[in-house]
Amino acid sequence: MGQNKSLQDMLAEIHAFAMRFDTFGAIGDGLVGVFGVEVATVILYQAGRSAGASYYDRVLGRVESKESLLEAVGSFKARRGWGEVSFVDVDEDEVTGRVVIKDCFESKAGAKTRGCPFLRGYFAGFLTRYFEIEVCVVQERSAVDECVFPFMPSKFRHETPVKVELREQTSNASQAK
Ligand SMILES: [Zn+2]
Repeated sequence: MGQNKSLQDMLAEIHAFAMRFDTFGAIGDGLVGVFGVEVATVILYQAGRSAGASYYDRVLGRVESKESLLEAVGSFKARRGWGEVSFVDVDEDEVTGRVVIKDCFESKAGAKTRGCPFLRGYFAGFLTRYFEIEVCVVQERSAVDECVFPFMPSKFRHETPVKVELREQTSNASQAK
């Protein structure tokens, strides 16, 4: 589908523009330069939160049922180059689970923020709309190969938002090629 269309046509069709990973990284580093790591991380988190909440409304109109939503989000995001997003061990009653992103675009962008604050905020905003209660998203792993974001109701929050220190450098060199 759409194989003969130019990238420009495809982007126009979905009301989108393309951004390089390193451009996104430069935005983060610009914020870090002015506000420092902690505040820049909060700013990107809040930016993500708004984006994720508005994405919920948009994507809900594209799926047949709310039940199929989380799976659909994974395939939509993969096609947009965000990475391979999956929702793992989701407990709809307890409002717990993990968002796992392989090949994470924000990790590739490599800004000197703590972990991937845009995506952490994005899924906090998205899941807060999805579950209709305030959801807290933390990050326990940040690396290009895989980022892991456990989530839980905000009222049970007892974890620090980001357990990872500054982004792990991608040193897969030790692994078998
Ligand atoms: Zn990431």
